[in-house]
Amino acid sequence: MTTGLELVNKWIEKNREMGLPDEAMEGTKFVFGDMLYTIRKNGEGRFHVDSSQGKIVIFRDLKQYTDELTCRICGTEYDNKIDTIRCCTNGDE
Ligand SMILES: [Zn+2]
Repeated sequence: MTTGLELVNKWIEKNREMGLPDEAMEGTKFVFGDMLYTIRKNGEGRFHVDSSQGKIVIFRDLKQYTDELTCRICGTEYDNKIDTIRCCTNGDE
């Protein structure tokens, strides 16, 4: 099973490949189940991912639900739903 931390690391990898600067990723937060992950930089300027567990409630904008062709993890757009689902989860969800 894919863990939240793996998904965050994949997101970082994919967004780096797409040219997003590290500064723009710093502070990005991710929710996976009841875990909250935050990208932070340590003293040496390296990334690390903070995780904390707690009750998390998300109020989503309905518009996000209707967009089934955009990967919710890395934001890549596809022509079909299957490719979108497989993008960052390797189809194991
Ligand atoms: Zn993706």
